[in-house]
Amino acid sequence: MKKKLMVLILGLVFFASLFFLRLITSSQETIAQDFVSNEVLVKLKPEAGKEVAIAVLDALRPRVVNYLGKEIAFSDWNPEVKSKSSFLGDPYLVHIRVAEDIGTEKAISMLKNNPNVEYAEPNFIIRLNSVPNDPLFPYQWSLNNTGQTGGTTDADIDAPEAWNIFTGNQETVIAIIDTGINYNHEDLAENIWVNVDECGAGKETDKIDNDNNGYVDDWRGWDFYTGNPIPYNEDNDPKDCDGWPGAPFYYYSYHGTHVAGIAGAKGNNAIGVSGICWNAKLMSLKIFYLYYDLGTGEIEPISSTDAAIKAIDYAIANGAKIINASWGLYNDPSGLLSAISRAQQNGILFIASAGNDSSNNDVHSEYPASYDLDNIISVLMTDHNDKKSERSNYGKYSVDLGAPGGSDPSQSAFNILSTAGENADHRYLYHAGTSMAAPHVAGVAALVRGHRPYLSWWQVKTILAKSVDKISDLQNVTRYGGRINAYNALTYSTPILPDPPSGLRSFVYKRDDGWYDINLTWTDNSDDEEGFIIYRNSGNVFWEIDRVGPNTTEYWDYELPRGYYYYYIRAFNQDGESVKTPQVAAKAIG
Ligand code: CA
Ligand code: CA
Ligand code: CA
Ligand code: CA
Repeated sequence: MKKKLMVLILGLVFFASLFFLRLITSSQETIAQDFVSNEVLVKLKPEAGKEVAIAVLDALRPRVVNYLGKEIAFSDWNPEVKSKSSFLGDPYLVHIRVAEDIGTEKAISMLKNNPNVEYAEPNFIIRLNSVPNDPLFPYQWSLNNTGQTGGTTDADIDAPEAWNIFTGNQETVIAIIDTGINYNHEDLAENIWVNVDECGAGKETDKIDNDNNGYVDDWRGWDFYTGNPIPYNEDNDPKDCDGWPGAPFYYYSYHGTHVAGIAGAKGNNAIGVSGICWNAKLMSLKIFYLYYDLGTGEIEPISSTDAAIKAIDYAIANGAKIINASWGLYNDPSGLLSAISRAQQNGILFIASAGNDSSNNDVHSEYPASYDLDNIISVLMTDHNDKKSERSNYGKYSVDLGAPGGSDPSQSAFNILSTAGENADHRYLYHAGTSMAAPHVAGVAALVRGHRPYLSWWQVKTILAKSVDKISDLQNVTRYGGRINAYNALTYSTPILPDPPSGLRSFVYKRDDGWYDINLTWTDNSDDEEGFIIYRNSGNVFWEIDRVGPNTTEYWDYELPRGYYYYYIRAFNQDGESVKTPQVAAKAIG
């Protein structure tokens, strides 16, 4: 029997028209306070004269940068000779480069103490303010929160700061497994993935599987839903909400289009909203169908695990690097777990929404978010004050981090504005939910992967997890204790992670007193680990029970009551952890 998936949509309040929106003028980002490493601009007191000035610099023995950008020896600096001074308009202002082991801050503190120095300051970096020209950007508080919705300034993912560095590229494919995408939407069309080997010269409609991937004419994704015999499903049209002919506009409509726009609506194109990735490829994999219950008159989007599994395998086979899954179920089908595991083997990150039932996923697991797979990033939702939204699921062990998803269903501007229908009256809508939080993470993941394509999926996950803005409200309800931050992620240094251990085995010893001792052994494959972390399950989740030092290959878990235990381990170092070993069981029952 097929298990139904319920699409997770909370609140679903929207304005049917943007008519009601207040116009807010575009705010200016403050200039980032970064400075050029090992450089200082030092103003010497002219009255002290050239010789004293050179004596001041002697403590640092810097190189001086002249006004044309050329380096000269500090002893050659001469305010009376143009080519030997840094600034033609201010000859006693000197641009110096100090040794790396001195650095900017130490150099400044040394110079400031000198009575012949007027001032010394960093050579600050000035950046363009990458505020996009999309007219609805001022409403996107989750990207740049200026308090425009009455929320907290900077309770956002620092998108403009991130866009100063990178705005995405078309090599990064994000698979949106959802209700489909309105691929002709004015603000999405340019960023829709197409299957190039199924395109051109009439290949889109020739009823031939030109690229031999098992799907005929799948030139822009696929519709995988098989649960209804009408001819609108299981075909090559993954358009949002095409399941029901003449379907009226319902509030839950355009879920997939909304999710897609959060991660990758075209940015800075003077149209609509800005995606987190201005440039991306959004692969539309439609698995939901708008089910119309003739008995109750209710309409709800439903899907089934077969469609989800097929969509994941399609994403793997057709080059996706990131999968967004803004849906879930309380059953835990093994087939779905295996499919996500295959995605991991293919280096794909799987971003999953935690669910919208205010429940603790550590206790009541919601899948796929709660599968204990390293490539899954489970996401809860935060509001415009950086608080966990009341309706969001959470879990110290089973939810990784937070991302903006909106909050109060009755106040739409608090929620997330994104792409929706193709008609003018509902082209952009507000939605709230962990469904909206997940694509914030998918978008940031796409930025990081596009910017540093050499990173492994595990390095990307480590970066996303470790670069969160720590938030007190998320400390005890997520594993990493914070909300995603695009700028932090893009600038986070590449983690050098230990190689994972292998060959984990367990041996159970029954003690004379009736308790059990469990012995674990493994192979240490790493030469840069600081130790190993031992995890044991309890109930639905695994948690860290102990750490052991480097080069260890054994662990004893003493005095356990009768029962079934499961373990896995990771190596760790200062940069982070290795992926985990496969689980081993220990049956303490003999
Ligand atoms: Ca900010
Ligand atoms: Ca094909
Ligand atoms: Ca074809
Ligand atoms: Ca746009």
